Amino acid sequence: MNKNSREKSNKFDTEAHLRAVINTAIEGIITIDNKGIIQAINPATEKIFSYNEEEVKGKNISMLMPKPYEEEHDTYIKNYLSTGKAKIIGIGREVKGKRKNGIVFPMWIQVAQCFENGQRFFTGFIKDLSTERNYLDRVIGYERILEDSINEIYFFDAETLLFTHANQGALKNLQYSDEKIKQLTPLDLKPEYTLESFQKLIEPLKSGNEEKIQFTTVHRRKDGSLYPVEVHLELIDFESRKVFVAIILDISEKISAETNIKAQQEQLMHMDRVSIMGEMAAGIAHEINQPLTAINSYANAAARRIKSENIDIDSIEKLLEKISNASIRASDVISHLRIMLKPNTKQHRHLNINSLIEDAVELANSDSRAREFELILGLAKDLPKVTADGVQIQQVIINLIRNAMDESIDKSDESKEIEIATRFLPNENRIEVSIKDQGKGIDPKKAEKLFDPFFTTKGMGMGMGLTICQTIIHNHHGKLWFTQNPDKGATFHFTIPTALDIDNE
Ligand code: ADP
Repeated sequence: MNKNSREKSNKFDTEAHLRAVINTAIEGIITIDNKGIIQAINPATEKIFSYNEEEVKGKNISMLMPKPYEEEHDTYIKNYLSTGKAKIIGIGREVKGKRKNGIVFPMWIQVAQCFENGQRFFTGFIKDLSTERNYLDRVIGYERILEDSINEIYFFDAETLLFTHANQGALKNLQYSDEKIKQLTPLDLKPEYTLESFQKLIEPLKSGNEEKIQFTTVHRRKDGSLYPVEVHLELIDFESRKVFVAIILDISEKISAETNIKAQQEQLMHMDRVSIMGEMAAGIAHEINQPLTAINSYANAAARRIKSENIDIDSIEKLLEKISNASIRASDVISHLRIMLKPNTKQHRHLNINSLIEDAVELANSDSRAREFELILGLAKDLPKVTADGVQIQQVIINLIRNAMDESIDKSDESKEIEIATRFLPNENRIEVSIKDQGKGIDPKKAEKLFDPFFTTKGMGMGMGLTICQTIIHNHHGKLWFTQNPDKGATFHFTIPTALDIDNE
């Protein structure tokens, strides 16, 4: 064989070989131009799509695709031509194809491009995935999941609304046979809907305005019993038919749990209201009680003096003045209780904390029990002023002094000293006030509860004093705490920022 004849026979062999490959390939091969017009298809493509070449040649490739690929294809080619961004070319991916009978199937497509006489062509290599073993396994697997799901899953025709399929979960719960359910529509299960209201409900899915809808309603079983359900509804293309898929969750348990929760919440809200009102009432009573006790003891003292033979007008006048001051304090307490619950810094003034303590001690001394105690003042000199609501801080001091008295009242033979001291904490720019008693001290088991509302260890106590004190001190940007004394009793401390600190805030 000379060189020429060898070249000639090689050329001939290559073309024939290529044609044979194309014609016998099990993969579909389709060539389209840059406008998506089909130029040629091989026999495998004819078999996959059930068209012969004449039926598709010269037509747009979109005829072999279902929605949305059908519409997207032209845009895809245009985008590729203008941007060069390839989604399939040289990469390959799974897409859906549409056979002549309208059946949609999964296929793998890989596209190559070539140029002939300066014109661009695309060649697609197609593999029908619906016959692939693992694909079938996958479908069977999905089918099993669908059947075994305890949720109810229904398919119903978009036009006739007749059920085309209901899974085992649905049939079991409704007590219908597979045959019977196919004669029914969702309206037979949903007593709350009429045909008109149901059509209105599914309209957004039919028009494409919504992809999915979710609603709650009740379902009726064959025996007439009802149960609440949550419905998730979608409209899909299934083998070129429009079909609704409904996934139904039985929410009986969820609803009964919610109704419990709701009952609990209502109870809690009620308790909350009662306890807030209770706290306020108890707080008012507690705070008013102190000046009232003072008024009572001043009035008794005044009465005793009037009854005595040598009436000392001056001392009676002083007692009356004290009665008047205590009653002003009582009304101040009422007006300031509101502020305590809702802090209002406008009531704060620059005050000397030592003077507040001296006044508070005087009020505390008016308590008949105070006679058994020695109130010792250890007040630091030249303290910076504090920005505070004087009445509220006095409330705190009086409360702490009274608690200190309560705790040591039974210890008749021991010394009953209560030390009230102040000191400046320069690093923190705060003043610390401490009230030290020689009482029983704090029971470690109860220490955590001391500041809780209504916690009391006293027969006649209300357990509101420390709660109120803490609120007041917090509202003044301070801190209230206690320490056990090394020998006996406890010390309650609170800090309060100096005027300088507050003004700079
Ligand atoms: P109440 O005085 O009505 O009991 P408080 O809130 O003022 O309410 O006090 C709560 C509890 O804290 C008291 O019942 C007491 O057990 C404890 N407590 C308060 N102050 C002292 C103190 N100085 N020493 C020991 N325990 C105290």
